[in-house]
Amino acid sequence: SANSALNHAKKMGRNTYQFFDKERHTLDPTELTKESALFKAITNNEFELYFQPKFDAQHNQLYGFEALVRWPQEDGSVINPDEFIPLAEQNGAIIPLTQLLMEQLLNQLAQWRKQNISFGNVAINISALHFQQSSLIETLIDNLAKFDVPAHCLELEITESAMMDNPEFAEQQMKRIKSIGVQIALDDFGTGHSSLSYLKRFPIDTLKIDKSFVKDIDKNDQDRNITATIVRLAKYLDINVVAEGVETEEQAYMLHIMGCHFQQGYYYCKPLKANQVSEFINDTLEKQQSS
Ligand code: C2E
Ligand code: MG
Ligand code: MG
Ligand code: MG
Repeated sequence: SANSALNHAKKMGRNTYQFFDKERHTLDPTELTKESALFKAITNNEFELYFQPKFDAQHNQLYGFEALVRWPQEDGSVINPDEFIPLAEQNGAIIPLTQLLMEQLLNQLAQWRKQNISFGNVAINISALHFQQSSLIETLIDNLAKFDVPAHCLELEITESAMMDNPEFAEQQMKRIKSIGVQIALDDFGTGHSSLSYLKRFPIDTLKIDKSFVKDIDKNDQDRNITATIVRLAKYLDINVVAEGVETEEQAYMLHIMGCHFQQGYYYCKPLKANQVSEFINDTLEKQQSS
């Protein structure tokens, strides 16, 4: 349960304090305040998933979403993941947090299915620490069964570091994930240190080109060449490729010309609240039919 997972995280948290003690000799009081707020927010299940559309630029249609966590505050503001995910990864809270998010996600997908909303394929981000736990498999199997959602609707986004820390385990873990029917994407591709041979060896469905390459694709030859090379590599290995951080029409067009048809970014849509998703899907379908 989320509660026993939280106790586990607190235990890991305590171990982390000892680790910090040895490493830094001091404890940062603001970090500790933030940490206890984080544990409390997990206990109260305060986190909310937003959904950013992924587009197929070739067929001019939606093909899925990426779920992105937000931490809503009492004053109405929202804290973005970059401000708490690294801390949650350090103290182990990422594991009970992701278990809650997985449950929230599959509950949401089950509701959309009941309402006949075709959301396509939805990805959720999994931290390296969590990817390296065998319990991830049970979390997946339990939630897919509990909410009766077909596994092919779900994709896990992991980073190169999840793969490189322990390649033997990572390969086995990916095979277990694939045997359930869940898909795997390699996130922020090009920023880590993965070996190209692993792309061939591991059952990866999708490469997500990091937004740092996309940002200046229309101005910088190097970024354009790197991106084009990743697209060709993915095609060659028969892996899907998605560009993230697409903000302008020029970027979208250049990626499309390179053969990178799957795209995600503010140019298409910002991350949406769950209750905005069905309206968005309907609007997109209408636009398609009228074009
Ligand atoms: P990511 O998985 O690479 O997600 C893409 C990030 O780029 C998201 O930031 C998204 O809002 C942002 N983005 C999308 N389109 C654009 C664009 O056109 N321009 C720019 N500049 N940014 C764009 P976000 O939501 O703040 O998330 C940041 C990172 O936090 C994510 O990067 C992911 O690594 C992590 N994260 C988010 N949600 C979760 C989660 O549920 N679990 C875990 N473990 N990590 C998460
Ligand atoms: Mg991601
Ligand atoms: Mg990314
Ligand atoms: Mg990232």
